[in-house]
This record gives sequence, C-alpha cells and structure tokens, in this order.
Amino acid sequence: MKKFVAVSLMVMMVWVSPQGLAHSGPPVPTPVGLAEIAVAFEWDFDATEITAERISDQLYVLFGAGGNIAVSVGAQGVLVVDDQFPALADKIRAAIKNLGGNQVDFAVNTHWHFDHADGNQFLGPDGAWIVAQANSRAKMTQDQVINLVSIAYDQKAYPPAALPVMTFEDQMQFHFNGQVIDLMHFGAAHTTGDTAVIFRGDNAVHLGDVYNNSGYPFIDAGNGGSIDGIIAFCEGNARANQQGYRGGARPWPAVELPGIGRLHRDAERYPLTNDGSDRRGRIA
Ligand SMILES: [Zn+2]
Repeated sequence: MKKFVAVSLMVMMVWVSPQGLAHSGPPVPTPVGLAEIAVAFEWDFDATEITAERISDQLYVLFGAGGNIAVSVGAQGVLVVDDQFPALADKIRAAIKNLGGNQVDFAVNTHWHFDHADGNQFLGPDGAWIVAQANSRAKMTQDQVINLVSIAYDQKAYPPAALPVMTFEDQMQFHFNGQVIDLMHFGAAHTTGDTAVIFRGDNAVHLGDVYNNSGYPFIDAGNGGSIDGIIAFCEGNARANQQGYRGGARPWPAVELPGIGRLHRDAERYPLTNDGSDRRGRIA
C-alpha cells in the first residue's frame, strides 16, 4: 500500500475528534470501493501483466497488481500463497500453467486484506482449498473497513466459496511437493491474522504485508495491527530461523518474499528479521 505508507507512526497516535471524543487511530475517510482504490493505487487490471521470478524449480513468485503470489509447483500439484484479484484470474491461471502447474490445489492467505485475498473468489470456485489463520477467516466473513488514512476501503464479506475451509491458530504444516511448508502466526502484527509461510526446502519465507518492500510497513491499526505486533512477528520469524525451520537443501542466504515489492535475497535480507536490537528505532 505504497501510496499511504507514511502512516506507520500516525496510526499509533490517539486522535481527538472535533467532538472531543478520543479515538484510537486516525479519522476514517468515507470508505470507497475497488474501482476508486484501483485508481488511487494506479492499478489497471486490463493492462496488468503477471510476471514470474524463479526461486527454485518448485517455487516461484508472481508479480502483478496487489500482493505477491508465491507458487509451489510439483508432482502433487499447486499451492499458492495469496491470490490478488478476480479481474486477473485468467492471467494468473495462465502464469501458473507457464510454470508447469494446472489447477490450484491449495491457496494460503497471508492475511485477509483484499489485495492479497480477493482472488479467493475465483480460486475457491475453481476448486482450491483455501487456508488462513482463524482471525483472518473471521474477518472475511463480515464487511470490514480498512483505513489507509488518506483513503479507506470498504471490504465486503466474502461469499462462502471464497472463505478458508481450513484454519489454524498458531501453526500449521503442509507436506507438499516434497517439502515442508510451515504456516506460522506470531500474534497480531499488520492485522490480527498474519501468517508467515516458510518453505523450508527453499529457505524462503512469504511474510505478507508485515514486510512491505516498496516503503514503510502499513499497519492496520483499525483492525488490530500495531508496531509492537510487527516487531513481535519479526522476532518470531527470527526465532523460527534459529530453531531450524528454514535451511533444508538450500543453505543460507535466504529468500524473503514481501507482501508488496521485489524479493530480498542474499545479504540484503529484511533487517527486521535479523537478530539485533532497536527494531522499533529502525521502523520509526
Ligand atoms: Zn495488508
């Protein structure tokens, strides 16, 4: 959400309305729909091209509009992490086919925000099993407002076919396409339902919008996100590294997939997932 990133500290402040009532977070602009948001973010779905970047023979990332899509392709089928928008359905299907995959078997949502999960509305009916942290699924079952400070989005409840059929609280594990894939929740961070998806064999992790590589992280304070939660999530991810969740056949350096923006590889790892101090200072 790069247009509205200079808000990470603003959202932590207590604002006082003209009526003198204290509210947590900034005032909420009148919520708008996807067409208006697409203009604000300069998304043109007709013109969007889906491009792919290889991490290994079995793991790729698709870039288009909205959140980055990780694609595991192998003998057992296709698992994706995040799924962008229904308007891009044909292009996403074609891109997966180009990687050697067919129908998506599993779709994992890093969180419930529309630019990462709206694609559930075509993948669910396509036959994919959708998986998310329990708090994210709960958010998807009801209308939500995402306050981006200068604009707000009116995210409607998803139809049943677009809802996760499997949820977890803290941790879940896939054994798929010959590798272990860990889904880990470290508490509320960017939202209340964030998941890090760790592909052990490829030493890669999709961090969702906890990691925005196009600017400062956006924290959805109106939906339970907090800067302390972001730090705790990053510390949890670092702890998982130390406990051997990553590595496998592909040694360090790791690959880190942000929710938005290009991959981080090798020595330029996301500093917040390293061990170290003053994470709050680095965010601020
Ligand atoms: Zn998000």
